[in-house]
Amino acid sequence: MQIFIGFLFAIIIAYLAYRAHSLNITGALAATVVGTIVFGLGGWTWAILLLLFFITSSALSRMFKKRKQGLDEKFSKGHERDAGQVFGNGGLATAFVLVHALYPESAIGWVGFAAALAAVNADTWATELGVLNPTPPRMITDLGKRVEKGTSGGISLFGTFASLIGAAVIALPAALFTDNWSLFPLISLAGLAGSLFDSFLGATVQAMYYCPTDKKETEKHPLHTCGTETVHIRGWEWLDNDWVNFACGAAGVLVALSVVNFI
Ligand SMILES: [Zn+2]
Repeated sequence: MQIFIGFLFAIIIAYLAYRAHSLNITGALAATVVGTIVFGLGGWTWAILLLLFFITSSALSRMFKKRKQGLDEKFSKGHERDAGQVFGNGGLATAFVLVHALYPESAIGWVGFAAALAAVNADTWATELGVLNPTPPRMITDLGKRVEKGTSGGISLFGTFASLIGAAVIALPAALFTDNWSLFPLISLAGLAGSLFDSFLGATVQAMYYCPTDKKETEKHPLHTCGTETVHIRGWEWLDNDWVNFACGAAGVLVALSVVNFI
């Protein structure tokens, strides 16, 4: 019964997001799967964490759309999310709902779920709000080197702070719903760590391309926004932005679960 209510609830949210152009058709189908599992097997508290991620990240992408014009070609996709993005951001969290369903007595399900969402939320907040930093970002692998805004692997004070707040937005209800306040700092810092790992991958092994027409580095492949075919210049070709987001969540989970084991 709860799975059925979860399915109805998920399909309504996915439809509204599709109508609002936050999701394309494949993204809406993927979100229905994710939402059904999270609400159906987890329940309201789990669905609220997922919605906080989904609503705040979609709203931020929307709010700063104008401000980022011109930077947009650096990001591989627009603000309309597809299935790859939905699973890249929400797939790992969904796996932890399944862990909870199998081992309801264990804290691993809830901590892993919250940490995975905190990390991808931290990363989204950093990406969307980091562009407001007054000075250009610095490369995470070489803090002496300033890079153009929107460059993968670039970090700033403002973006890092936004990342911590983005993680805290998930960590607060995660602590509140379980009345375990050690989860608040734990999930916040795990989310920040995941987001920094995301930047590290962007600076090192994430697939990067070059547009010969615009003479610009981009994550877009095979075609740039201008329609030109992009050329691979560095990084592992399979490691696209969706896999980097997945790795961001995984890093947050590893940090959170390794600390939880000591408590
Ligand atoms: Zn181009």
